[in-house]
Amino acid sequence: MLICDLHVHTNYSKDGESSIEDILKRAEEAGLDVIAITDHDSVDGAKKALTIPSAVLVIPGIEVSTRQGHLLVLGVTEVIPSMLDVVETITIARRMGALLILPHPYHVWRHGVARRKKSGMTAVDAVEAFNSRYIVGSANKKAARIAKRLGKPCVGGSDAHHAKFVGFGRTFVDADRNVPAILDAIRAGKVSCSGRKTPLRTYTRQSIKNTWRKIKRITRRVPLR
Ligand SMILES: [Zn+2]
Ligand SMILES: [Zn+2]
Repeated sequence: MLICDLHVHTNYSKDGESSIEDILKRAEEAGLDVIAITDHDSVDGAKKALTIPSAVLVIPGIEVSTRQGHLLVLGVTEVIPSMLDVVETITIARRMGALLILPHPYHVWRHGVARRKKSGMTAVDAVEAFNSRYIVGSANKKAARIAKRLGKPCVGGSDAHHAKFVGFGRTFVDADRNVPAILDAIRAGKVSCSGRKTPLRTYTRQSIKNTWRKIKRITRRVPLR
């Protein structure tokens, strides 16, 4: 059984705080076999990670921002344009032969597709039923409940934006240790997931930082009169 974290951000994401080297090192220390590098709208970090020798197998991926929320696309090294309708994004990703996961579908304050477009759940291969960045856990529970009803495999990811949280969300995959076999096993539902909560203060701190950055960006664009 392979231990995987299928949702990790590096400093190639605008809000990512750790280098790829630090993330791979931490993944090894955390006892992971596999991590998916899924930066926001970029594959540069994932491509770089593939060139770094490591005991941890890297699945290249991307977390695409669609008009309805985020979509995790695994097994790609090409960028998919952001801010398209999620159905259009799914069509493009499918053409690339990617594995599609709906991350944090019901999380409030996050970019959960299922809260805006119900059909989002049915169009993907798997649902992230454990995301380690939560407050009470009801959104994760709801994702697991709906995924089960729809017969979708449930996976887990840390959604770590700092190396120290890599491995906080885990997917156990019954597969050989190579990317196509792992993606196929997830599609076939040979998975289970679990994890622990990322301490709330770390991502509230990060949310404040992000909001501040956005405000600065807007005020730079609109000069004060
Ligand atoms: Zn996200
Ligand atoms: Zn994410």
